[in-house]
Amino acid sequence: MIANPVPWPNGARCAVAFTFDMDADSILHLAHHTSADTRLAAMSMLRYGPEIAVPRLVELYQRFDMHQTFFLPAWCMERYPAAVEAILQGGHEIAHHGYLHEHPNELPSEEELYWLQRGIDVFVTMTGERPRGFRAPTYKFSRHTLTHLVNEGFVYDASLMGDDVPYLLENATGRVVELPSHYALDDWPHFMASRDFNYFMSIKPPRQAMEVYAAEFDAMWEYGGLWIAVWHPFLSGRLARCVAIAELIEYMHKKGQVWFARLDEIAAYVQQLTQAGMWTPRVDRLPYYPGPIPELGEAEPTLAR
Ligand SMILES: [Zn+2]
Repeated sequence: MIANPVPWPNGARCAVAFTFDMDADSILHLAHHTSADTRLAAMSMLRYGPEIAVPRLVELYQRFDMHQTFFLPAWCMERYPAAVEAILQGGHEIAHHGYLHEHPNELPSEEELYWLQRGIDVFVTMTGERPRGFRAPTYKFSRHTLTHLVNEGFVYDASLMGDDVPYLLENATGRVVELPSHYALDDWPHFMASRDFNYFMSIKPPRQAMEVYAAEFDAMWEYGGLWIAVWHPFLSGRLARCVAIAELIEYMHKKGQVWFARLDEIAAYVQQLTQAGMWTPRVDRLPYYPGPIPELGEAEPTLAR
């Protein structure tokens, strides 16, 4: 079913990475800049992430002896240094998720680079290292993102959805490893309910979401894929959902032959396999198109309406 399965380490059938995007209240300031300070209930819901959920998740990972990856907008690192400290102390990776959760594909290239570099500066100051990985906020990877990532020395990206296994993104500037996921492994469609974001998913038992994640896991396990959860502490870190996550981890352990890893470890492993000639990843050349396709002309065609 997978044309080019990865020879995962130690005979593992698949690789598993639980990644959490700790957006905290950055998304509220971005959505409602002039009134975010008046939306205290929404703020409290989002602050639950760094204040309550992150310490809980770090404890959960410790219970299972797991090291995972958290994506943080750099502004959130500055705002919530205790969460950064807890994540690092747990042996987890922190990767780049914008400065204030800005959307790269809605910005001019220079502005995108400005926020990327401003974020990197925060990483260097607070962690002593440059980030190795990037996930574009709201998956909004731009036509220029790859060039900026290569120039800034990033090893991997985790924003795209183009395969079941790692692949490479390439352009004239260079390459990075892509570690893909997709919406079925995102918690927003399962759990997000907020008037302030005009987004209301119906409330369901956490196990219903876990059934979807487990089905994705079973398929990846069967065919040698890469399972990356894209979750948010303020959503999946709520109590009943965390209980269900622990059960999902137990299920994975029971099944066995699973490589639980940080994304930087998976990217390094892919590079190592490639260099040793033991596995050749597929390459996506970016951007996919130099501009709007010519078949429909330059004006907004009636066809598209
Ligand atoms: Zn995010």
